[in-house]
Amino acid sequence: MRPFVYTGFPARVVFGAGRLAQLPAEVAALGAQRALVLCTPEQRATAERVAAALGERSAGVYDQAVMHVPLEVAQAARAHVRSLDADCCVAVGGGSTIGLGKAIALTSALPILAVPTTFAGSEMTAVWGLTEGGVKKTGRDPAVLPRTVIYDAELLESLPPAIAGPSGINAIAHCVEALYAVDANPIIEMIAEDGNRALAATLPDVVSETRSIEALESALYGAWLAGTALNGASMALHHKLCHTLGGSFNLPHAETHTVVLPYATAYNRDAAPQAMARIRRALGRFDTGDAATGLRALAQGIGAPASLKILGMPADGVERAAEIAARNPYANPRPIERDAIRELLMRAYTGESP
Ligand code: NAD
Repeated sequence: MRPFVYTGFPARVVFGAGRLAQLPAEVAALGAQRALVLCTPEQRATAERVAAALGERSAGVYDQAVMHVPLEVAQAARAHVRSLDADCCVAVGGGSTIGLGKAIALTSALPILAVPTTFAGSEMTAVWGLTEGGVKKTGRDPAVLPRTVIYDAELLESLPPAIAGPSGINAIAHCVEALYAVDANPIIEMIAEDGNRALAATLPDVVSETRSIEALESALYGAWLAGTALNGASMALHHKLCHTLGGSFNLPHAETHTVVLPYATAYNRDAAPQAMARIRRALGRFDTGDAATGLRALAQGIGAPASLKILGMPADGVERAAEIAARNPYANPRPIERDAIRELLMRAYTGESP
């Protein structure tokens, strides 16, 4: 066996439909008396219910979370937390809301209890992000890792299929890149393959009109594993491309991951054969004999957007994106070559076969 390093990160996970009922006990277990419930403006009603369930331990609801945590939003939230003398944040939402909780924890070390309502996986990572002047900075700090995570699939029943599908593929992208990461290890590979399997098996149900709580629960389990893979292994070309496209052209986060993933996988096809075999195995009925086309078949099977053009990328952006992505590249199985990256992006722009 090849030598490896594995770091386990502490997080208490409470999993199961209806388990939000545990929230007051979990907040109490953190020793908190005044928990501020964070959410986006759209999820205010859900957050109000959560705050009501907290009773005396609630310090109210703060509904200003937005995508990519603008610095001024983080600063306003930090001031609000101080003014209330809150001693805990309960982040109810997707990566944007959990990201706001992390921004608060970064400067205050307040514990976060996360209640994820998408499949993004931020609740399992010690990675924070803040956007200043249109530029997103990220970093790692153990203080921002949520202390407790409650995965309750009932909260995802309101997630529109058009958000749920790309969010699930965003999670699969964490699994795919963990499988060929420069610092991959057998534990994370096992987690990543199983996360990929759970998501690929259930996403078609999750986006259907007749979706079941079991399908949501199984996909949420996959998202937990995917978030663990994201935290436990270094991400490569795919995440670099998505950060570049999101940052430079303001493309939507999960949808960009969904479009780019088959092309980034194809780029690494010959350089990471073992990872490709594991991705294919996890794809189940979407296995086409090739990991990249299988991932595309899955995305098509759930009706996800299929090209960067549809997402609003300008045609003349391909050259610029290739230049930025080739600069300071992340470690990747196949070396980053600017011309090949430009070709990859052009294919993703038009949506042709990966
Ligand atoms: P999001 O949190 O922005 O949510 C998308 C939309 O869906 C929002 O309008 C939200 O209100 C709504 N929504 C969420 N859950 C819902 C539900 N159950 N019912 C109804 N509406 C619901 O999207 P996201 O994709 O979860 O997160 C994206 C952000 O998270 C990006 O900024 C990304 O960079 C960040 N992220 C960070 C990490 C990390 O480790 N730091 C990991 C993954 C994502």
